Amino acid sequence: MGIEMENSAEGHSDGDQAPGGPARASYRARTEVEAFMVGVPVKFAATYRRTMEGAPGLRNAVNSKCRECVNFEDTVNRVRNCTAKRCALWSYRPYQTGDA
Ligand code: SF4
Repeated sequence: MGIEMENSAEGHSDGDQAPGGPARASYRARTEVEAFMVGVPVKFAATYRRTMEGAPGLRNAVNSKCRECVNFEDTVNRVRNCTAKRCALWSYRPYQTGDA
């Protein structure tokens, strides 16, 4: 899981390069992460940031997505008691007690 970067070739003959080159694309990606981080509580920020920046680790990615899904509010209870069994992450959500 990573951040989608714009990769438009409009007006450029090199095709695979984002406008402004890789440095510009990297800047846009960082800006996107910063914009997304605004609503993330401090206690989840480090994990969330690493995940958004593409750090490996499915566990962190799933945890971050579930926390985001409940809007970072009453996270343990809401994720543990999530009833969306059709969600692809449901079996892997954090905070399960084993009796769900
Ligand atoms: S398992 Fe539940 S809390 Fe986690 S992403 Fe899916 S719907 Fe949201």
